[in-house]
Amino acid sequence: MTDAETLAERVRTGELRLHELEEHADHDTAAAARRVLLEAETDADLETVGDYAFDAEVADSAIENMIGAAQVPMGVAGPVTVDGGAANGQYRLPLATSEGALLASVNRGLSVIESAGGASARVTKNGMTRAPVFRVEGVVQAAETVEWVGENLEALREAAESTTSHGELLDVEPYVVGDSVFLRFAYDTKDAMGMNMATIATGEACSVVEEHTPASLVALSGNLCSDKKPAAINAVEGRGRSVTADVVIPGEVVEERLHTTADAIAEANTRKNLIGSAKAGSLGFNAHAANVVGAAFLATGQDEAQVVEGANAITTMDARPSEDENGSSDLYASVSLASLEVGTVGGGTKLPTQSEALDVLGLRGGGDPAGSNADALAEVIAVGALAGELSLLAALASRHLASAHADLGR
Ligand code: NAP
Repeated sequence: MTDAETLAERVRTGELRLHELEEHADHDTAAAARRVLLEAETDADLETVGDYAFDAEVADSAIENMIGAAQVPMGVAGPVTVDGGAANGQYRLPLATSEGALLASVNRGLSVIESAGGASARVTKNGMTRAPVFRVEGVVQAAETVEWVGENLEALREAAESTTSHGELLDVEPYVVGDSVFLRFAYDTKDAMGMNMATIATGEACSVVEEHTPASLVALSGNLCSDKKPAAINAVEGRGRSVTADVVIPGEVVEERLHTTADAIAEANTRKNLIGSAKAGSLGFNAHAANVVGAAFLATGQDEAQVVEGANAITTMDARPSEDENGSSDLYASVSLASLEVGTVGGGTKLPTQSEALDVLGLRGGGDPAGSNADALAEVIAVGALAGELSLLAALASRHLASAHADLGR
């Protein structure tokens, strides 16, 4: 019997539990033992799941009960020139997806943006939030708590920042609902996405609130944060990075490369992304920002559940008078992602393929100054999302969408 089979047998006899195997063997053997058990219990053949190219121990902080790896194809789009607040120069964007035609579409959009001289992008707001909920007796105690918090931000900052050498407390916004008080803490988490950092720091600050006010902590996360749920507060106030990318594409480039006009794209955007989304009660007023955000998140080791907030984007497209008197209208295109939660350190960014993808961008690890790598990543993803919006809207405006999917995706 192999080591994995022996380990699997010990689980079968009840001597060991499935989650304990790393305590009795190296991580690769533990994963192999789980595959042996699963293959015996089911009709599954897990040969490909077990054929991963990294040391399983590296994934220890990313997964429990590991059996192998889900391998998603990764491609690259670009290059594109980004004039950002942090990003500066030409970038190739790694994207991992199983949606055929996505890379081709983003690549086409980036190529058109490059023909127009590249895109501009800026992070205009940055704050990772955690909003604990406290119990009070009623509105009198709620007001007392809110007043104390307003007057003692420094004490809360000192407590929160004692837990981290990078994080900075930016603000604490109180909300009262009956006998519940929510405090929405916002942090500059530099190059980390920051959800663990913000949670640990907020936990420390909550002890200070409880010490000095009548409020009693019920839950460290009270859902006003709002993590991994569609929420208007993130669309309005932002969460993580609020980032906008834009470009002006000359009329002749729109016609030659996208086979349509600025007016037709602007009309498609207004009727689809703005009016259609409004009628649907959508939070995202865009065509498919989630596609680029999701594929970039998978490739670069972001928390994929936060695509929920990442897709909180508004796309605008307008025809502008051409610089050339006789030319057709230029196209102004923008996408504003209100709550893009990204990091270049921590979490899944440490995994080997994800680190390599960050290397393709030149954005692995901490930036100089701290926070600049995560800002740059947000800006490049925003330009990728802009490319996706342009390409899809142009396909709709020129009525090529179905044929492109039929050719590339099936
Ligand atoms: P993390 O991996 O927990 O921590 C990253 C740490 O890296 C920071 O705390 C910081 O240490 C350090 N660091 C080194 N260089 C840095 C730099 N240049 N900028 C910023 N930090 C630097 O990552 P995280 O971003 O806080 O949290 C991400 C993880 O949280 C993901 O795995 C995600 O899945 C998970 N998550 C957690 C929750 C939750 O409620 N806890 C919710 C959603 C997701 P110092 O703080 O000591 O400076």
